[in-house]
Amino acid sequence: MLKLNSHPAGRHFLQIPGPTNVPDGVLRAIDYPTIDHRGPEFAVLGRKVLAEIRQVFQTRQPVVIYPSSGTGAWEAALANALSPGDAVLMYETGHFATLWKKMAENLRLKPEFIVGDWRSGVDAAQIEARLAQDKERAIKAVCVVHNETSTGVTSNIAAVRKAIDGARHPALLLVDTISSLASIDYRHDEWGVDVTVGGSQKGLMLPPGLGFNAVSEKALAAASNSTFPRSYWRWDEIIEANKGGYWHYTPSTNLLYGLSAALDQLLAEGLPNVFARHRRHGEATRAAVRAWGMEILCRNPAEYSDSLTAVVMPEGHDADALRALILDKFNMSLGTGLSKVKGRVFRIGHLGDFNDLSLMGTLAGVEMGLALAGVPHRAGGVQAAMNVLRQAAAPAPIEKKAA
Ligand SMILES: *Cc1c(COP(=O)(O)O)cnc(C)c1O
Repeated sequence: MLKLNSHPAGRHFLQIPGPTNVPDGVLRAIDYPTIDHRGPEFAVLGRKVLAEIRQVFQTRQPVVIYPSSGTGAWEAALANALSPGDAVLMYETGHFATLWKKMAENLRLKPEFIVGDWRSGVDAAQIEARLAQDKERAIKAVCVVHNETSTGVTSNIAAVRKAIDGARHPALLLVDTISSLASIDYRHDEWGVDVTVGGSQKGLMLPPGLGFNAVSEKALAAASNSTFPRSYWRWDEIIEANKGGYWHYTPSTNLLYGLSAALDQLLAEGLPNVFARHRRHGEATRAAVRAWGMEILCRNPAEYSDSLTAVVMPEGHDADALRALILDKFNMSLGTGLSKVKGRVFRIGHLGDFNDLSLMGTLAGVEMGLALAGVPHRAGGVQAAMNVLRQAAAPAPIEKKAA
């Protein structure tokens, strides 16, 4: 895309599962001149985004916004809610769960990893059994990834909450929603989550650069007892400044303009409609993969991700060679297989600023790529996806409420 002196006609298809395509209206909003972050105009923006972002997390609790990647928001969650040496129970759903565990080790926490197969979600029964054994209550938190972006598997967070309650265990529940927030239904308050970690560049349709922590009362209480040396990530100082619509350091003003525009767009569509749209596109994508005669990495249909699909390559065929060909011929980026599944899977992102015809273009690019790369498959995936989209007609757009 950034090849100098090269201007391919038409738009690049950025169909990786984040960063996602940024809508034009959001790009234009980011272009507005940077203002005084301590002036009165800023407070209006700050108050608006801080109030509206809570709707996306489905919470009445504070949401802390950092100028950071999602990884920064992971660190903020661990460093505020826990103390060095604390035992934490984590679950190996895939690459991102593994990275979060590595971070916990770097921070001198003591993570215990429930082994997974990189094709399945969190088994809440195993969490309940482990917590029930922990008579001394040494485990201070359970950390899980809601939507494992490396595998396209969505875990049942309400079931994890039930498991913790079933074991009558006081552990905090920390959840990574970086690739599900604003794409797949997620309920911070209803599911009793203590810290929800988010990022800007996936369902929120923004460029990378904002990290989020939605924080429960219990998490705030834990933070006041935390012995982690921390300063930049401290929730308390940010939440205090946020009361006036400000930050105590320079926030990412232009990304907050973008966030404001993205929230306008999401809330005008209505979150239930946003989730239904992602569900349809997930179903149509899976119909295409089945029609090709290829395998979906996620084993359990109840755990299919509606924001991305990981597709298993036939034996002897390299996913990255296919991706390179598709980029070269059709100017489309697909997600690579990460670590354990490198070369064996490619990932189709179908989240964010995405509609029926963007999906059709995406799937057509994949199907043509499979044929050109000589990957064994049956034709007709695009047709199968069209059949799904036709049957489940798009929901009528909601009228935008007058201000
Ligand atoms: C993208 C992603 C991350 C990492 O976010 P960065 O912004 O790259 O730091 C973590 N967890 C999940 C589930 C993700 O999809």
